[in-house]
Amino acid sequence: MNIENKVAEIAKRLYSEAMNSTPSIFDKRKWEGKVLEWAMKDDHFKTQLFRFIDVLPSLKNDYAVIRILKEYFSGESIDMLGIFKLGADDIPERGLMAKAAARAIRTNIKGFARQFIAGSNIAEAKGKLQSLRNGGYAISSYLLGETVVSDKEADRYIDGNVELLDALFPICNRWSHNSALDEDEYGHIPKMNISVKLSSVFSQIDPVDWEGAIENTKEGLRRILRKAKTVGASFTCDMEHYYLKDLIIAVFKSLLEEDEFKDFPFAGVALQAYLRDTADDLKSLIEWARTNRRVITVRLVKGAYWDFETVVNRQNGWPVPVFLSKDETDLNFEELTRVLLESHDVIRPAVGTHNIRSIACAISVSEELRLPANSIEFQMLYGMAEPVRDALQKMGYRVRVYSPIGELLPGMAYLIRRLLENTSNESFLRRSFVEGTSLEELLRAPTAIGKGGEDGDGGFQNDPPADFSKSENRRKMQEALVTVREGFNRKYPLYIGDKEILTEKEIISFNPAKPDEVVGRVSSASAREIEMAISEARKAWETWKGVRISERAAYLFRVAEMMRAKRFELAALQIYEVGKSWKEADSDVSEAIDYLEYYGSEMQRPGSRRLGSYPGEVNEYNYVSRGIGVIISPWNFPLAIPTGMVAASIVTGNCAIFKPSGLSPVIAWKLVEFFNKAGLPPGVLQYLPGPGSVIGDYLVGHPDVDFITFTGSKDVGLRIMGLASDTLPGQRSVKRVIAEMGGKNAIIVDETADLDEAIKGVLESGFSYQGQKCSACSRVIVTGDIYKEFCERLKDAAESLRIGPPERPGNFIGPVIDASAQKKIMEYIDIGKEEGKPYIVKSNNVSGNFIGPVLFEDVEPEAIIAQEEIFGPVIAIIRADGLGSALEIANSTEYALTAGIYSRSPANIQKARGELRAGNIYINRGITGALVGRQPFGGFGMSGIGSKAGGPEYLLQFMHPVCISENVLRKGFVPM
Ligand code: NAD
Repeated sequence: MNIENKVAEIAKRLYSEAMNSTPSIFDKRKWEGKVLEWAMKDDHFKTQLFRFIDVLPSLKNDYAVIRILKEYFSGESIDMLGIFKLGADDIPERGLMAKAAARAIRTNIKGFARQFIAGSNIAEAKGKLQSLRNGGYAISSYLLGETVVSDKEADRYIDGNVELLDALFPICNRWSHNSALDEDEYGHIPKMNISVKLSSVFSQIDPVDWEGAIENTKEGLRRILRKAKTVGASFTCDMEHYYLKDLIIAVFKSLLEEDEFKDFPFAGVALQAYLRDTADDLKSLIEWARTNRRVITVRLVKGAYWDFETVVNRQNGWPVPVFLSKDETDLNFEELTRVLLESHDVIRPAVGTHNIRSIACAISVSEELRLPANSIEFQMLYGMAEPVRDALQKMGYRVRVYSPIGELLPGMAYLIRRLLENTSNESFLRRSFVEGTSLEELLRAPTAIGKGGEDGDGGFQNDPPADFSKSENRRKMQEALVTVREGFNRKYPLYIGDKEILTEKEIISFNPAKPDEVVGRVSSASAREIEMAISEARKAWETWKGVRISERAAYLFRVAEMMRAKRFELAALQIYEVGKSWKEADSDVSEAIDYLEYYGSEMQRPGSRRLGSYPGEVNEYNYVSRGIGVIISPWNFPLAIPTGMVAASIVTGNCAIFKPSGLSPVIAWKLVEFFNKAGLPPGVLQYLPGPGSVIGDYLVGHPDVDFITFTGSKDVGLRIMGLASDTLPGQRSVKRVIAEMGGKNAIIVDETADLDEAIKGVLESGFSYQGQKCSACSRVIVTGDIYKEFCERLKDAAESLRIGPPERPGNFIGPVIDASAQKKIMEYIDIGKEEGKPYIVKSNNVSGNFIGPVLFEDVEPEAIIAQEEIFGPVIAIIRADGLGSALEIANSTEYALTAGIYSRSPANIQKARGELRAGNIYINRGITGALVGRQPFGGFGMSGIGSKAGGPEYLLQFMHPVCISENVLRKGFVPM
């Protein structure tokens, strides 16, 4: 029989059997079924519902439940209680009725959770597992543990799995042998299976540190697998986000190659058919199994993170790894199923789907290959598609039910994934059991016609960061680290006019992780060279200001291309010269490229506008360049910040004299070198490093300088502004100062916050690049009764961060920039010990300028460590009574740079949007990492003056607006 006919025949049998009942989740007699029906009809309600379900378990008191319920569902007529027939607006805010309502709501949402989760612990789940077994189903258990932020939490997850296996053992041991469930074509199979999430086994899991991640993950996983082996359970590595995919497969293989597990026959891994890569991954797993002469289980699923993958990969500018149409995924699933079955000599196929056509396909291929029915296993999720699984089981197939066990809170992400899946327009269950899609349509063979729409709109696109989950990028970075080190200790000249000038006096640039290692020796300018440079700039400006905009922009685009080609070397140099981690260094290079491309394209927007439409006159509004600009940059974004300031200065027709920080002069030289290679005319960009305290005043005060673009500390910025306002004889313009200065940035975490996200965001914002970012979080303000839990988890998470030389990618915390910065930070830590409860979480036992991370608890808002910029990995945690006082505290410093809030209360988010005083406000995300063109960056107050870098108004500051009005009426005649 033709395969399609065969598929149709099997599917019809399954369908007619299954359609006799309804999956329990869609049962409209129950509150859950009714609410889901509503959600499927109304997308807004669905969003609100899922968001409410997400926040509910973290709400500790009844009144908070009612307040948040009202915030989400005000105006909705759906009966949220299911018993009182009341909408959210009908429930009082306080009193007995409110308490009763809160309890009813909790019960209802628990009902949802119970639908998909077998129990909050093994005692609770025991009965469910037993009845599944009695009903003729095999079982896979999965301990819910979604986000793990610390080693302690990972240990708890590992222990939990070991305990789960210990607890399951006596239960399963009592089950009498059932050949349909306990045997496959190779003979006996374990009665119990456990699925494990590797990201919960090692808190710092990240493919950027490939070897370290494999070793550390294996360490935890080994304990679970050892226990599985002892109690006779089978074991499956779950598949997670695409970013971890290669790593998960590598850990799986590596562990199984160890002597202890070489002969273990019951290990498996899940693969996702929605990934374009999976066909290749499966092929290589099959080859690996053949080479290693072993049988493994492959659980094929469609994939549960589709929304996440499409959003996050697009945000990063990476190719979207999933098929964009469901049809392509379904087709791939069918093709991969065939590969699995054809490889049954080394693969135990486990087909995880609720889709009747996909199931029928698997059965027809196995029949075509004449495989025994027990050579294939079907897997379905607990609480889903009961009619399908019953029908399949009746046909004599082994169906394993994937049964999560665990608390509601860690289970929330799992629950939301299931709800999304069930309510999705493309869900097979929804289409067949809710929408009554015709059998013919349900069984239609999927096609490979994909959805397009991957390209952007042709406008500015951010440069994608390197994806270090790809081995090619890790290899390139390792090679670049070697190449760059070979170039250490070179001499770098000044660059004035078209001449490279070496001076006797030098600035020595050291590697902060190994302070005796010299990265480079850079010439140091004095007054004489400044005079030369200013006169060269004056000469060059006469021509440069008249060069066509497109030509000026072309230099920027050329340099962007060159940087792209050298991105790994530029990043490697930053790792050595300023102590950035791989990812931080790479992002800095991307940001530099972005500035070049963004300002290059912004400048080409039509600059000249006609104003008014009165007859007889033409008013043209235009811009002209300012003249000679001095650029003074910091070391902490050693390529991106000066690139932005240089690009903006020159593309607007000015000439720039660039004085980089003495702590990052080698990277700064690279920027100048690129522009030289791009053919920029001499005198347009000159390189004049030198001690700020010595040549800074001379440059800033020079009468021939028209503007100063500065990024750095408040003290230096204010000094520059003061000096620039003095005028000297012969000076032709009032100097314009664009200054981006410091910050003392706060993140508010309220009682509705998702703590997993908040902790990750605070760690990243406070400790990435050792807190040496103007945008870094140095205050966390916590409201409500989550304070203690938050502090504990944050401390554990901070303690889990690895410290050491950043050239090793497993180290999250590298050195601070130099010994004097280290000393200054240590002084603040000493002050902090007086002002707060110290959590000095890491001692400094590595040589080099290493510190922290450091947390202080119970800090008063007005304490020194809560008011002054420390510029190191130090965070003050402050307790606040409620959002009002949290906002007051957040706004209580002289700075106004970045600020953020983690909250799931719509009202709190709204209030924070309106009242946080900062140039960049972030909601439910970290407060660093602003992207050019997407989050234009810059503050006010004592954080700076000027419009935002990477924003649509930035370039205007580098030009004078000029209005040209022409009377076109001559002798009473106007031109047509
Ligand atoms: P810094 O102020 O010490 O130095 C910045 C630059 O100014 C360097 O090139 C330095 O040599 C020069 N300089 C020093 N004294 C000078 C003087 N008297 N006259 C002229 N120039 C002088 O700052 P830093 O340590 O390089 O950078 C860290 C500071 O920069 C932090 O305060 C941080 O918040 C701030 N920063 C702000 C932003 C922003 O966009 N707002 C971005 C990055 C860094």
